[in-house]
Amino acid sequence: MTMDKSSFYDDRKFCPSCNGYQPYLMSMDHSYCVECGGTVRLFSKDDWETFNENMKAKRPKGGRPRKKKDQNKESA
Ligand SMILES: [Zn+2]
Repeated sequence: MTMDKSSFYDDRKFCPSCNGYQPYLMSMDHSYCVECGGTVRLFSKDDWETFNENMKAKRPKGGRPRKKKDQNKESA
């Protein structure tokens, strides 16, 4: 077990400039890549899209579920 290593990897964010997950420095508003000084984000674009897809999948389509009464009216 290398617990130190895993926590080290957890403490990374995605740097678009380096095109990979990098160690970063935190500031008030943003986090900065220690390699290139660019702004890092929590996810890469692909990971962010995957994250959004997962969120969408959890949400029911079409908002509120219909009442049975309304459905009967439509079919009649
Ligand atoms: Zn970088």
